[in-house]
Amino acid sequence: SRIPRIVILGAGYGGIVTALRLQKQLNYNEADVTLVNKHDYHYITTHLHMPAAGTDKPDNARVNITKLIDEFKIDFVKSTAVQIRTEDKKIVLEEGTLSYDYLVVGLGGEPETFGIPGLKEYALNIRSINSVRYIREHIEYQFAKYKREPSCTDLLTFIVGGAGFTGIEFVGELADRIPELCKEFDVDPSLVKIYNIEAAPTALPGFDPELVEYAMNVLKNKGVTFKIATAIKECTPEGVVLATGEEIKSATVIWTGGIRGNHMLEEAGFETMRGRIKVDDYLRAPGHDNIYVLGDCSIVMSPEGRPYPPTAQISMQQAEVCSHNLVSQIRGSELKKFEFKPKGTVASLGRGEAIGIVGSRKIKGGVASVMKKIIDLRYLYIIGGIPLVLKKGRF
Ligand code: FAD
Ligand code: NAD
Repeated sequence: SRIPRIVILGAGYGGIVTALRLQKQLNYNEADVTLVNKHDYHYITTHLHMPAAGTDKPDNARVNITKLIDEFKIDFVKSTAVQIRTEDKKIVLEEGTLSYDYLVVGLGGEPETFGIPGLKEYALNIRSINSVRYIREHIEYQFAKYKREPSCTDLLTFIVGGAGFTGIEFVGELADRIPELCKEFDVDPSLVKIYNIEAAPTALPGFDPELVEYAMNVLKNKGVTFKIATAIKECTPEGVVLATGEEIKSATVIWTGGIRGNHMLEEAGFETMRGRIKVDDYLRAPGHDNIYVLGDCSIVMSPEGRPYPPTAQISMQQAEVCSHNLVSQIRGSELKKFEFKPKGTVASLGRGEAIGIVGSRKIKGGVASVMKKIIDLRYLYIIGGIPLVLKKGRF
């Protein structure tokens, strides 16, 4: 009989770890594995707030895929998938098509704009290497432009929409970067404003209130102004309009208001919630025993019946079970149920500062900052061993 074909879409946290596990677990000629990704590099999404603000180089947040996988075991195709066709088990790529027997969807998330007018057109997103390079250049350009138009102080106002973990980590970096930019461009620091605007009654809704307060104080001391319980209603080329009717003028709006699943899933006819598929116990799309869905494209319910937040942490744990189940399906042995084991959450607040919960312990300040670095280094070790830790690690 023919060798089964496994296609993995997306080389993010879910996709790359699935590929690495399959290349280890599969025997010679047991399956053909093809990994498809838009770029020839994997990006370390959890670092993107740094190159976005300009506190780190974009190159430090990416790794060539062929440096991570064994090309004798996994075929890598650099291409953008445009359509998933479950009826004839094909993937349409920008150039050509691929057939699969088993599919792994790890395409990641897309910005959720909730239909708020102007956000798609005028706001920037922290999503990829290309998008963060754009943000970094855009911010620098506002400083340069201000020197030509010194009456336009709005050029020095930066708005971050959404105070979830992405928004909070980004304003932490941006606040660290501003003094450097002010020095470089000879700009009076008191003219620069950073707003973090959050619709919910608190920043980091759902997180430990004591740690949220600590984080807000650290960020306020660095110059961030919070507007909490204030929704962004509209984004325009001149800035944002708030639900209160107030307008804030700015040439820079970074939208960190949430993410949804990849649009291709809806288009393929899967049942989705905010673009994400609620997977079965084995991480498969309901009704499709050969399609696994991971990471930001998937929804896994907690025992309390709430969806777990989409994180790199859950994506990687899913990849372990997904690869196990693919090998089991091919060998006709038993599948494993996925059970998320939350390890905690640590978020950076810029240089030397962070907050987090590890196990049941709350941590903050320098200790948390070191912990965040360890978590990030551990990931590099998992995917690329010591050489990658030394090459891309941020110590
Ligand atoms: P992703 O990692 O998003 O990867 C998707 C891949 O698919 C990408 O390589 C992309 O290029 C590719 N792709 C997309 N579309 C196509 C297409 N059409 N064709 C081919 N390829 C395509 N989570 C944590 O657990 N801890 C953290 O500390 C943390 N920090 C974060 C910090 C920031 C600034 C951000 C933005 C997120 C952070 N997260 C963190 C969340 C975490 O990054 C995501 O949950 C995680 O990246 C999801 O992994 P994924 O495998 O679903 O997809
Ligand atoms: P999120 O959905 O967690 O947060 C978005 C925030 O934007 C929410 O607080 C929401 O209330 C707010 N918002 C929505 N609409 C708004 C509006 N109109 N006006 C103002 N505010 C509005 O999204 P995220 O922060 O991008 O995080 C995505 C996922 O990645 C989460 O699961 C998160 O846990 C994870 N993440 C983790 C880390 C970490 O562990 N260090 C860092 C970044 C992201």
